[in-house]
Amino acid sequence: MSWEPVIGLEIHVQLKTRTKMFCRCELGFGDPENTRTCPVCLSHPGTLPVPNAKAIEWTVKLGLALGCEIAPHAVFHRKNYFYPDLPKGYQISQYDQPLCTNGRFLVPGPDGDAYVGIVRAHLEEDAAKNVHVGGAAGRISGADRTLVDFNRGGTPLVEIVTRPDLRSAEDARIFLQLLRQTVVELGISDAEMEKGSLRFDVNVSVRPEGSSELRTRTELKNMNSFAFAARGIAREIGRQIEIYEKGGEVDQETLHFDPTREDAPPLRSKEEAQDYRYFPEPDLVPLAPARDLVERARAELPELPGQRIRRLERDYALPFYDAEVLSGLPALAALFERTVAAGGDAKATSNLVMNQIVAAGVDPAVVDGLELAKLVEARGRIPRAALDEAIAASGTPGFRADDYTADTAITDAEELRPVVERILEGNPSQVEAYRGGKTGLLGFFVGQVMRELGGKANPKVVNELLREQLGL
Ligand code: ADP
Ligand code: MG
Ligand code: ZN
Repeated sequence: MSWEPVIGLEIHVQLKTRTKMFCRCELGFGDPENTRTCPVCLSHPGTLPVPNAKAIEWTVKLGLALGCEIAPHAVFHRKNYFYPDLPKGYQISQYDQPLCTNGRFLVPGPDGDAYVGIVRAHLEEDAAKNVHVGGAAGRISGADRTLVDFNRGGTPLVEIVTRPDLRSAEDARIFLQLLRQTVVELGISDAEMEKGSLRFDVNVSVRPEGSSELRTRTELKNMNSFAFAARGIAREIGRQIEIYEKGGEVDQETLHFDPTREDAPPLRSKEEAQDYRYFPEPDLVPLAPARDLVERARAELPELPGQRIRRLERDYALPFYDAEVLSGLPALAALFERTVAAGGDAKATSNLVMNQIVAAGVDPAVVDGLELAKLVEARGRIPRAALDEAIAASGTPGFRADDYTADTAITDAEELRPVVERILEGNPSQVEAYRGGKTGLLGFFVGQVMRELGGKANPKVVNELLREQLGL
């Protein structure tokens, strides 16, 4: 029997608002510990939360980008649990009336569109950060003690829950990358996994291929990179298949994935919602986003990365791969479009931009589309060295493609002949080798002549002169 993996994700995105979710402390990643705190986020008695309007607006934006419905009435709940990173003894979160529900997010692929269902996206506050001291790699197991940094406590956090629509670790990676790019382009989060501003848990189950049942899932916590997650998912899929093939049952549990170990020890059996004793936050009124604000946010949504991939493919007849690479770097996509608008052939421009502009480390934002279009046009005509040189210079102010292309290149054989002769005189052993049969050296001589003339020679004429001089 063959098995199909079923994967759903829960993603946490820290918003990069200036201040925290329910107090006026500024966010301060990397600041000295416990310097971004106040009585509200340390939950001193008698303090009250005041919601951050920007965080609500941005969550609405994100919800719209995820294709969600924006609830006319959303409620903050207290999620009660006891842990040192939570000074109130509860987290203000959303429960059965989240701000954004029931979305679908476009994930284009080489074989067509896929949509990942979004169960919900809700707004909550992040917990403080526990810092484990004395153990290996800052992990809790084996640590001597744990310190708490309350700077992170109270940071606005959006939790996005997908439907179990993903079928492989690769699906999950592509989805997460597109989601990450979306929040970055919306300007609402830096979504950096290394900084913890994007974190995710992976829910995994397997089922017989062709069936539509949902079997018991396990949850992998502690995912902090795509590569890491892919390994965890692969291992978990293998483990579950093995259990079923031996006639066993998978237990629903949370696994703490540790890349340095071959297994993933259970962290705890999954809490039930009733364990959190959710109840509506009595210190906050329900959220009621005004319809006109929602509609305005919808109208103002930028083109999303997934849509951009499809548009680049469609409008410029690009292969999926090109569209995906270009879309992944918006400044590169913009340069591509400027260049094509100025007359560059689409596929040739795409190649040049994706390969040579990137390889040369040129900032695409400062390259002039018209000048680049001239290089695209000239690319087969001028020597490779001249093209490389032109590309390398294409980001400098006042760059003119004409200075590098064959239009200004020397085509006059009488002008070129002395240079060719000088190069041959200067390289007697290569000349001998060439005459001895190493005809591949022709390219070497062409390169030398070009170098001598700063690339400004017609390669066809140089070739002819060289053959003539070398007597072949
Ligand atoms: P809970 O209410 O217990 O948190 P949800 O139904 O909201 O559970 O699902 C949480 C996450 O688990 C979602 O990302 C969802 O897609 C995923 N999930 C649910 N059932 C399965 C399953 N059988 N296999 C894999 N993932 C699943
Ligand atoms: Mg959850
Ligand atoms: Zn505070």
